[in-house]
Amino acid sequence: MAEVILKNVWKRYDGTAAVKGVSIEIPDKEFFVLVGPSGCGKSTTLRMIAGLEEASDGEIWIGGKKVNDVPPKDRDIAMVFQNYALYPHMTVYENMAFGLKLRGYSKKEIQDRVKEAAEILNMSNLMHRKPKELSGGQRQRVAVGRAIVRKPKVFLFDEPLSNLDAKLRVQMRMELSKLHDRLQTTMIYVTHDQVEAMTMGDRICVMKDGDVQQIAAPLELYNSPSNRFVAGFIGSPPMNFIEVFISEKLQGEAKGVWLRENDPQISSNGMQIKLIPEMNEIVKSYVGKKVIFGIRPENIYDKLFHSGGFSEGSSVKATIEVVEPMGSEKYLYLNTGKNNFVARVEPHNSAKQQQDIDLVFNMETIHLFDPDSGKTIL
Ligand code: ADP
Ligand code: MG
Repeated sequence: MAEVILKNVWKRYDGTAAVKGVSIEIPDKEFFVLVGPSGCGKSTTLRMIAGLEEASDGEIWIGGKKVNDVPPKDRDIAMVFQNYALYPHMTVYENMAFGLKLRGYSKKEIQDRVKEAAEILNMSNLMHRKPKELSGGQRQRVAVGRAIVRKPKVFLFDEPLSNLDAKLRVQMRMELSKLHDRLQTTMIYVTHDQVEAMTMGDRICVMKDGDVQQIAAPLELYNSPSNRFVAGFIGSPPMNFIEVFISEKLQGEAKGVWLRENDPQISSNGMQIKLIPEMNEIVKSYVGKKVIFGIRPENIYDKLFHSGGFSEGSSVKATIEVVEPMGSEKYLYLNTGKNNFVARVEPHNSAKQQQDIDLVFNMETIHLFDPDSGKTIL
């Protein structure tokens, strides 16, 4: 059991930086996820924690000890890779026992540990098989078993489920979460899949281009993304972004701050929506400027089906370009004449392609981002 701390950690390869000053504190027993697009530095960060890569700068601490100069085998960590890395000529038992044998554990100790891990992973009946006689999911379980028998202070996972089919991934996701509950050990899990991150992580670190974008619990990331990148990365279908002009009311409009698709000085056409009064003060300095408006698909409703009250100036007209029935919900791909966006509506919604539709935006849930920095304004 151990906490893991990264202090301003850098990794440079011949002048180009793959990891740029990452600082993270992972408390003991946490399931911590590193997520981000391919090439953003997740594996490099994990490999520096494991000691498989040397940090160019910064400090790495595991269990209260600075480990920059500690070799991987003495860091008390175990890593599970995407490609399993099992020995093909060895049985499951031998694969799991191998690392312990190398470390000089007694035969009895090895037997006990492998037996226990096999029970935890529900594969006691597979111990005599060779990897080629196993399914993808079973092989992955052996790879996890090999980590468990080590009883490490920290588990490191690098995209361990990427080679599995969609259904098995969901099942293994749950098994790993249960494993974490049972072992109560710090786990650091790398994935490019935001669904895996959201469903498994106690906390999630979103990375981009070697930088940390935000570290937060799943729902906090979802509801309060600190910038446009995080907002767009977490959630499916992703958040809608529309560039809007912020202006005060025009003649005949309700008092307040309005967001407009078109510059009001040039045209009064297009989407016009009014901020709820609570937001007025915050956006004051942006009046007369452009910002990026963000709204999640589930916060856009078909007015016909929307029984509850909605705030003044929150309705929008659009044309439906495509309807995608998903079974439990429907996605409407919409166009305002200038911008495209997607709404997630009830499965019984009867809206048809090419039809015009009146929508209501849930203005309580909207996001505004600075167009230059991408940072949230609200
Ligand atoms: P991720 O795991 O998020 O997909 P990586 O950590 O593997 O990303 O890689 C981050 C960046 O570092 C990438 O641009 C990659 O090309 C670069 N990189 C990784 N390993 C090396 C290496 N050994 N030499 C040079 N560049 C590398
Ligand atoms: Mg990687």
